[in-house]
Amino acid sequence: MQAALPIALLVGISLLFASRRSSIRLSEVAWPIDLSDILRIGQSVMDSRNAHGDPHYGIDIFAKSGTRVRSASAGTVIRVSDGRQSNKESSKRAGLWIDIRGDDGLIYRYLHLGEAFPSVGKKVNVGDIIGVIATANTSGLANDPHLHFEIRKQDWTEVRGSYGDPIDPLSMLPVRKG
Ligand SMILES: [Zn+2]
Repeated sequence: MQAALPIALLVGISLLFASRRSSIRLSEVAWPIDLSDILRIGQSVMDSRNAHGDPHYGIDIFAKSGTRVRSASAGTVIRVSDGRQSNKESSKRAGLWIDIRGDDGLIYRYLHLGEAFPSVGKKVNVGDIIGVIATANTSGLANDPHLHFEIRKQDWTEVRGSYGDPIDPLSMLPVRKG
């Protein structure tokens, strides 16, 4: 009986720490591609993406075409855009893409899709399948199939003509081992 009190205290203290930790975390964010499907991670945030030195605002996650893409966060689909047939250069470069406003207020962007499943206004949870990676050269600049994944502080506005500042997804995603 006497050992029960210290054990209860220990459990209590560790629960306290666990809840503190989770309250600090902004939101639950998961990898949009199953770790077992990831071939490699390419360019990271702010790498120069071409000879013009245009910044790269996300990370490239390489996987076979047809690989399932999952929502990295809980949120609401705010945009499903198909730039594949667009005359606008920036839309063409993005291919088929989805923008999701996370419940944390951040904008999660998924580019170079072959299919996009949810429609605008749909609520999604972490891990919901939202699309698949396109085959090479069919959905924007992707001569090697990959998901271009971005997290932005604000949505695109007409006035700014761009999205808000990028956040490095690697700073929010769980550490990937191996
Ligand atoms: Zn990219």
